[in-house]
Amino acid sequence: MNDKAGTTGAVKRLDAVIVGAGFGGMYAVYKFREMGLSFVGIEAGGDVGGVWYWNRYPGARCDLMSVDYSYSFSREIEQEWTWSERFAGQPEILAYANFVADRLDLRKHIQFNTRVTGAVWDERRQLWVVKTDKGETIEATYCVMATGPISTPKDPDIPGIASYEGELLRAQKWPHHPVSFAGKRVGVIGVGSTGIQVIQEVGKEAGELYVFQRTPSYSMPMRNQALEADYVAEMKKHYPALRAAMRMSPNGGVRPSSTRPFFSLPPSMRRQVLEHAWEEGGHSVLGAFSDVMVNQEANDQVADFLREKIGQIVKDPKTAELLKPRGYPVFARRPCLDSGYYETYNKPNVHLVDCNSEPIEAMTAKGVRTSAREIELDMVIFATGYDGLTGALLAFEVTGRGGLKMSEKWSGGARSFLGLMMEGFPNLFTTAGPNGPAALANLININEHDVDWIAAAITYMADNKLTAMEPTKQAEDDWMELVATLAPRTLLSKASTWYTGTNVKGKPTGLTMFVGGFPKYVEHCANATKDGYHAFSFKTREATAAA
Ligand code: NAP
Repeated sequence: MNDKAGTTGAVKRLDAVIVGAGFGGMYAVYKFREMGLSFVGIEAGGDVGGVWYWNRYPGARCDLMSVDYSYSFSREIEQEWTWSERFAGQPEILAYANFVADRLDLRKHIQFNTRVTGAVWDERRQLWVVKTDKGETIEATYCVMATGPISTPKDPDIPGIASYEGELLRAQKWPHHPVSFAGKRVGVIGVGSTGIQVIQEVGKEAGELYVFQRTPSYSMPMRNQALEADYVAEMKKHYPALRAAMRMSPNGGVRPSSTRPFFSLPPSMRRQVLEHAWEEGGHSVLGAFSDVMVNQEANDQVADFLREKIGQIVKDPKTAELLKPRGYPVFARRPCLDSGYYETYNKPNVHLVDCNSEPIEAMTAKGVRTSAREIELDMVIFATGYDGLTGALLAFEVTGRGGLKMSEKWSGGARSFLGLMMEGFPNLFTTAGPNGPAALANLININEHDVDWIAAAITYMADNKLTAMEPTKQAEDDWMELVATLAPRTLLSKASTWYTGTNVKGKPTGLTMFVGGFPKYVEHCANATKDGYHAFSFKTREATAAA
C-alpha cells in the first residue's frame, strides 16, 4: 500500500479515493485512516453531511428516530453526543455530522466544493484514474462511491421554468441564508416526504400557500417530542443492546414491528391496534402487523383506516377527499410522518391544487399555469424529489474494464453484486448501492456495514498480494435473480415512485432494491467472502507485473 499521498505533477497517486462526504463517506474516511491507507475524500458540497448539508428547507427532519439514525462504530461518540428530540431536525443532524467530523478530525482528508467528473479503470496499471472539476487527476487503487441513493435532485418536467421571474427554490438545494415566506404567495410543487415537511411549515407563515398535488401521500403523525435527560441517560447506557436490536431488524432500526398477521385478530382488535399505533406516532402503524406489505387485503384495510383519519382531520370534505390517497398500496411509496400536515389544509390561506383535474401546463413569468388558470406566485418551491438510487452514480461517466461504461451496463437498470461491486468494474465499491437494501433500511446502518465490508475486502487483498477484485458474472447474475425474485413478494413495486424509477422520464423501471431485510443482506454479504471470497475473481501482483 502507498504510505503517503504522493504527488506527481498534477497527478496524485493514492490507495483510495472516496467520493461523497455524507455519513457513508465520512465513515470510510475514518476507517481508511485507521487502516493506514493513503486516500482523499471528494465532496461537491462545502462541508460534511451529504443530504443533510443540502436539505436545509424549513421543517427538514429525519423520519427515523435519533436513537437509530446515528453512528454505532464509536462508543465515545455515542456517549458524547446527546440527541434533543425523538426525531431530530436537519440542523441537529448536520450539527451531529459536524461534531463527528471535528471529533475525529476528518475534514483534513476531504476536498470540498469539488465534483468528480469521470473515473476510468486503467487495466494495465490496475488503478482508477479519477478526474475532478478542479482539473485534478487522482490515481487510486480503490474507488469508493459513497454518493448516496437520494442526492441528485430532479426538477418537475414542466416547460417554462427559466421564464419564472419570482423566487424559485429547490428543497433539495435550499439556500444557506434565511428565507421569509411572510405575506408572500407561495407555491409548493410535490407532496412526498419533503413536500409534506415544507408545506406544514410554510403554511404557518405564507400569505397564501398553493399546494400542487398530483399523487397524495399517506402520512401519519410523527408525535415528535423532546427527549428527557433521564431517558437519554438510559439510551446511552443501553446503546450496545439497542444497536444489536437494530442490526437484527429488517429495516435496521428499533422501530416497532410485529409478528402478528392482520387477519389473525378480530376486526375490533385490529382497530384497537391501529388506533394505538396512530396515537404512538412515528412508523408504528407500519409496524403494527406483520403482513401489511405482502397481503393486499390487509394493506387495503390499513389504507382505509388512514383515509378515515384524513377525513377526520381535514374539515373541508372536498379537500379531504383529494388528500386521500387511492390506487396504490399504502407504504408502497415512502410512508411520511408529519406534525400537523393535514391540519394545515384547515387554514384559510392554504389552497390545494389538484394536478389530476388541472395539471400544471407550464411555469410563466408570474407563476404557474394549470389547464384551468394561471396562479400568480411570489415564490415557487420544488419538492419534486430525486433521480434516486442511480442518479448520482450516472451523473459522470465511470468506465470499467475493457472500456465498459456504467451507463451501458445499467442501460436496462442497475446491476451489481450486493449493491457493493460490479462485474467489469474492478476495485470500485458503492455504499448503500441500488441493489442492496438502500432506501428500505436505515442508511447509516447500511453505510457502516458496507464500509466495514469494503475495508475487510481491501485488507484481504493486501494480505494476499492481490491487485484487483470484482464479482464473478455468475455471482452478480445470481444476486440480481434473487433481487428480482423477492421484489414481487412485496407490494412495493405496485406504486409509481423513485424506488421503481418511474419518476424520471426514460429511466429503466422496476424495483432493484433487495427487499429481504437488513439482517439477510448482511448474511449474504458475509457469505460472499467465505472460502477465499469465492464469489469474486482476483488479479495477483505477479500477473499485473507480468502484463
Ligand atoms: P418524492 O417522494 O419523489 O416526491 C416528489 C413529489 O413531486 C411527488 O409528490 C411528485 O408527484 C411530485 N411531482 C413531481 N413532478 C411533478 C409535476 N410535474 N407536477 C406535480 N407534482 C410533481 O420526493 P421527496 O419528497 O423529496 O422524497 C424523496 C425521498 O427522500 C423520500 O422518499 C425519503 O426517502 C427521503 N426523505 C426523507 C425525509 C424524512 O426522513 N422525513 C424527508 C424528505 C425526504 P407524483 O408522485 O405524482 O410524481
